[in-house]
Amino acid sequence: MHKNLVLLISGLIFCLCTGCAINPVTGEEELMLFPEEQDIAIGSKYAPEVEKQMGGRIANEGLQNYVDSVGQRIARVCHKPHLEYHFVALEDKSVNALALPGGYLFITKGMLKELTSEAQLAAILAHEIVHVVARDTSNVMSNQIGIDILLSAVLSDKTPRGVLTAADLTRQILGLQYSREDEETADLAGLDYMVLAGYNPYGMVETMQMLQSQQEVRPIEFFSTHLSPQNRMIYLTQRIQTKYYNLAGLKVGKEDYHRAVLKQLNN
Ligand SMILES: [Zn+2]
Repeated sequence: MHKNLVLLISGLIFCLCTGCAINPVTGEEELMLFPEEQDIAIGSKYAPEVEKQMGGRIANEGLQNYVDSVGQRIARVCHKPHLEYHFVALEDKSVNALALPGGYLFITKGMLKELTSEAQLAAILAHEIVHVVARDTSNVMSNQIGIDILLSAVLSDKTPRGVLTAADLTRQILGLQYSREDEETADLAGLDYMVLAGYNPYGMVETMQMLQSQQEVRPIEFFSTHLSPQNRMIYLTQRIQTKYYNLAGLKVGKEDYHRAVLKQLNN
């Protein structure tokens, strides 16, 4: 059988086998275009391309371990702690963070330089973890790029004729746009994850303040929707005041962040 036909048929089988799934973050039923097992295949396929296109990994093992340790602390309390999460700091100068399906998360040097505490780093990573857990990334990729293109690139090492290269696809992945609802859910569920992991939730409000002052820089993910940081600060502050008014014992971690990240990047 012709290879493209095989891919098309396997794509169709995926569609028929999946249908609806409960989003663990919202508790709502959602139409999923491919099964969760494909998330890891897609994430692991495109992660090296994302790294390459965003300047590669920051060559500082201590910094990478620190970013990973903060991410893992949140991953343990999220709705899908069984997934294997990978947190990587990239050289890219834009102020950005992004997630691929299956648990591949990235934060840029541009973003790390603008943050001032571990709680702020936790806020960015928690927001991205929600996109993975809720499968926003999987949905948006299949809607905006096309499930057949994504899967054919995963199933085959060669670039099928007429289909985009992995590099082209990665550029599209970097430009994906989440819905306003997905962004608000990622903010609020991310806030819950932060507190569960022991972080002061005001770290997320502070990152919104920073993003607002960075408006002109326009990071790819965090400003891709029309949700203004100001609106986000309002609903986040309301949620903290009604749900998390007792902040005793929650970590801010300015010194740790300074030592493990800012000092390293200024060296
Ligand atoms: Zn987002």
